[in-house]
Amino acid sequence: MTDMGMKVEQVLHMVGGAGETSYATNSRLQEKTMYRTKPILDNAIEEMYRTLLPERLVVADLGCSSGPNTFLVVSEVLGVVGELRRRLEQKPPEIQFFLNDLPGNDFNNVFRSLERYGKKIEEEKGELLVPYYVVGVPGSFYGRLFPCRSVHFFHSSYCLMWLSQVPQGLESDRGVPLNKGNIYITETSPPQVVEAYQEQHRRDFSSFLKSRYAELSVGGGMVLTFLGRKKQHPALGDLSLLWGLLAEALNSMASEGVIAEVKVDGFNLPFYGPSMQEVKSVIHDEGLFDLDQAQTLEANWDPFDDSEDDLAFDNVANGKNVARYIRAVIEPLIAHQFGDAMLDELFLRYADNVSKHSLKAKTKFTILVIGLKRKA
Ligand code: SAH
Repeated sequence: MTDMGMKVEQVLHMVGGAGETSYATNSRLQEKTMYRTKPILDNAIEEMYRTLLPERLVVADLGCSSGPNTFLVVSEVLGVVGELRRRLEQKPPEIQFFLNDLPGNDFNNVFRSLERYGKKIEEEKGELLVPYYVVGVPGSFYGRLFPCRSVHFFHSSYCLMWLSQVPQGLESDRGVPLNKGNIYITETSPPQVVEAYQEQHRRDFSSFLKSRYAELSVGGGMVLTFLGRKKQHPALGDLSLLWGLLAEALNSMASEGVIAEVKVDGFNLPFYGPSMQEVKSVIHDEGLFDLDQAQTLEANWDPFDDSEDDLAFDNVANGKNVARYIRAVIEPLIAHQFGDAMLDELFLRYADNVSKHSLKAKTKFTILVIGLKRKA
């Protein structure tokens, strides 16, 4: 049995709540990236605000998830606009924030923590605080979420590597899985698999751009941050390795009969890390946005390893740290395919695989950051 028909939009969500295994508790990697992309975000918002000086400013965070990072974006925008309107001696605008994610997201947790974060934001901003209102928007950003020309600015961090669906065409005409033993593109994936992933990414990113173009007001823009790769071939790079080590754990459990091998063979992630060249080519072909910024950053897999050298500081801790946040991200998809009885064992094996690998080489993500301006 394969599961290509899985409805990603119904199954995908980060682990909810605020407990030990939740996304809220395990999102330091994403938080660190947000601090690093701050100058790009700040500049883009400043420029947009200066140009439009709207009385009511509408900002949407796409793929907000639930946890501290959700509010970091809100706080950042409030900070930039509050300071700038003072410098420009403008009347404080009112800001409408839309927080979007898929329906399975723990919006309740977001709403419940609003008051707490609101107080924190109020204290931090003091007199510079401008009035703001927060609304949750459930739905996929690969389709339309807002009325025409109703949003001034979009932000999205760590989301666009998630595809709208597992690519079609990962099975032969007779239903035989083509990416056997893998859950993402690796060096053993046949060319059809690579093409299917590339095609799905191209289609998704292009729908994303079309929808945002329709929704942005003239003069609006966006800053998008997502995982990608440096090397040209999709099978090369850290994402193939990251998911390859998880596939290894699944395969070892299948060979011991703990889970069914056919389930592993039919499991592929709705995920794709593009190269900057691929991203630019879709932007260019759509012709709806000017590319204002394009930067490539690197981040250690282990979010608690702040060093820049090429040695893992503690390989066992390293494996555990990586397994913990990967679990917070991927658990619902895995549980949907394999049930939840196998989760603890899987992530123990995964931690072990990561830890062994980190003795050989230090592992880093490639992060793409792009700033786009809507063409008039
Ligand atoms: N921006 C946050 C959360 C990143 S986690 C941060 O930086 O920490 C990625 C989020 O993207 C998840 O909550 C996931 O549910 C959401 N997501 C993935 N695909 C999506 C889609 N098509 N539409 C809306 N949200 C999506």
